[in-house]
Amino acid sequence: MSAAQAPTAVVTGGASGIGRAIAQRLTADGLNVAVLDLSPSEEGFGLTVDVAERAQVDKAMDAVRERFGPVGVLVNAAGKDGFTRFADLSFTDWQRVVDINLNGVFHCVQSALPDMVHARWGRIINISSSSTHSGQPFMAHYVAAKSAVNGLTKSLALELGPKGITVNAIPPGFIDTPMLRTAEREQQLGGTIEDHIARTPVRRVGRPEDIAATCSFLVSEEAGYITGQIIGVNGGRNT
Ligand code: NAP
Repeated sequence: MSAAQAPTAVVTGGASGIGRAIAQRLTADGLNVAVLDLSPSEEGFGLTVDVAERAQVDKAMDAVRERFGPVGVLVNAAGKDGFTRFADLSFTDWQRVVDINLNGVFHCVQSALPDMVHARWGRIINISSSSTHSGQPFMAHYVAAKSAVNGLTKSLALELGPKGITVNAIPPGFIDTPMLRTAEREQQLGGTIEDHIARTPVRRVGRPEDIAATCSFLVSEEAGYITGQIIGVNGGRNT
């Protein structure tokens, strides 16, 4: 099987920002796209799902199979950041951030995987974070979870490669989305977006479409020899 024969993609977090641009791009590429998100989606076949809740994820994957057939592509873009001094970080907040950013990936991959194994073809793309390259003060929970996603990506690539499934991560850096704008408004960026642009080698903020284009390539047949990679899309920051 190839993407051309089984073009069903699930994009988590596809109602906003990066996930939304990915859902739009994969739709334009000719895939059937389902979006799993807490918020309602304007893109594709939208399902209201908390990715941290396995029963909700399994139910949504079944609904996608019923609508479009087996899942061949999974993009894990749902995420939640957080800014708290580590000494003040409650275990509840730690756990919620880990639940969404890491355990959500576990649930979605395990839930979609049987279709890819059966087809002997699949593409899994995990959206992690460029903060994993450098660390980030006040984001210990988020960076820990996203770093684990990078490790999970590498391990799954080794395990699933022989089954025809590639697994890669894209750690975005500084992409203009509602998440970034909220962080700027709440003065969590250590300066304005303009200040950061001046420190970014390519001198612009990233666009969700930059991540979507990389994702589109990783889904393509041409990217079949690329797996286990952490492919930074960050304008030269944090490389
Ligand atoms: P965004 O605009 O806030 O979009 C994230 C989407 O994920 C939202 O629709 C959000 O819904 C959804 N979501 C959150 N928790 C969820 C859950 N438990 N179950 C299902 N959906 C959930 O953020 P973004 O900037 O596009 O971020 C996309 C991904 O890129 C995230 O994983 C983020 O960590 C990562 N990232 C972004 C940047 C950046 O510069 N923007 C940098 C590094 C990494 P609600 O709005 O209802 O919560």
